[in-house]
Amino acid sequence: MSAPVATRFAPSPTGLLHLGHAYSALRAYDLAQEAGGRFLLRFEDIDTGRVREHYYRQIEDDLRWLGIEWREPPMLQSARFDAYRAALDRLKAMDLVYPCFCTRKDVAAEIAASVSAPHPRSRPTVNGPDGPLYPGTCRALDEDERRRRVAAEPHAWRIDMARAAAMTGPLSWIDSEAGSVAATPEIHGDVVLARKDVPTSYHLAVTVDDAAQGVTDVVRGADLFAATHVHRLLQHLLDLPVPHYHHHRLITDAAGKRLAKRDDARSLAALRQAGTNAEGIRAALRAGAPDIAGLEALD
Ligand code: GLU
Repeated sequence: MSAPVATRFAPSPTGLLHLGHAYSALRAYDLAQEAGGRFLLRFEDIDTGRVREHYYRQIEDDLRWLGIEWREPPMLQSARFDAYRAALDRLKAMDLVYPCFCTRKDVAAEIAASVSAPHPRSRPTVNGPDGPLYPGTCRALDEDERRRRVAAEPHAWRIDMARAAAMTGPLSWIDSEAGSVAATPEIHGDVVLARKDVPTSYHLAVTVDDAAQGVTDVVRGADLFAATHVHRLLQHLLDLPVPHYHHHRLITDAAGKRLAKRDDARSLAALRQAGTNAEGIRAALRAGAPDIAGLEALD
């Protein structure tokens, strides 16, 4: 028998929710409701420098205003660093991660140098879904240097993607929009799994937590589709169940531009304050209506 359906909404308390978040949250909520399953809330608050205390409450209030309810206390990623360390330790034991001492500046300089070098280097600069791939500088360090520098310098941990992907064989996931998708995590290169300032990254935390919360169906925006290649790989390496994915289209403004957190005027809080009717917004979002109270357009 398959596991009872559980979906989640996983905002970062670094800004106000807007209609794009509302759309995602409602889709996750409705999917759970229709299946008689659980809807869960998780605050992705590992980015301690950008998190603001008041957003936790505000996000919960905005979701309730929208008519979304949850039974279990929200999961806080900031309280789960031990779980992320344990996952990273497993990957260390498998020799699939390495410490990286590069600053952003170092990485940019290395990429610039490889582009302008008169002779092509053995590993040319390649672009991934999020820009140029990490050029692999720290992958080449020997054990002695690694050990010495780990003890003395701030460092992140990166996955050795070529090695990890070679170990797993073909992987895939089921996506409600795209069908069966073959995972190609190599397109991301050696992504960071633990940052210098926190013992995790988005990729590691989201993978560990979807499993920890028993999430069977991940509902999120199409902007995170490419990230799923990495998550699928990590699920395999960490022996975690593979949820179904529902990557939905993004909500855009009338000019076709994606909504961003800095657009405070389009926030749910602003709509509430302007006396907008939550029922109307809910109905428009559920109907995929091209116009939401004259404010926004759907993709
Ligand atoms: N925390 C992410 C965001 O606010 C969502 C991550 C996810 O759904 O996997 O965009």
